[in-house]
Amino acid sequence: MPDCLFCKIRDGQIPAKVVHRDDACLAFEDIKPQAPTHLLLIPLRHVATVNDLTVEEREMVGHLFVTAAKLAKERGHADNGYRLVMNCNRDAGQTVFHLHLHLLGGRPFDWPPG
Ligand code: 5GP
Ligand code: ZN
Repeated sequence: MPDCLFCKIRDGQIPAKVVHRDDACLAFEDIKPQAPTHLLLIPLRHVATVNDLTVEEREMVGHLFVTAAKLAKERGHADNGYRLVMNCNRDAGQTVFHLHLHLLGGRPFDWPPG
């Protein structure tokens, strides 16, 4: 998608602190971190929102979560815990319309969310 910020990060057209890349996903540091660890995991293939997922993307979505757990463990958050968030559309506060999983760790988080 030519005007997609995260496609541009994926393609190296916009710089980002990339911490993981494989054949299905990319993980990089959020530009405005909300916790000591705040990573964004994106599929390499452009999908705008959770609403746009199809059954063909099941494996990719699972891969995002497995990769997030691996990165959380590497950063020492497994025992204390961490939060995984995928916002969908306006009411959830989605601002970038390329699917992404937030990995937040390193501090306690409130529930319910604001
Ligand atoms: P959303 O609100 O869509 O769930 O999350 C979008 C996230 O992307 C936000 O946490 C925001 O800080 C992050 N973000 C926005 N622009 C950039 C950017 O240019 N680079 C990086 N690394 N993160 C960004
Ligand atoms: Zn995109």
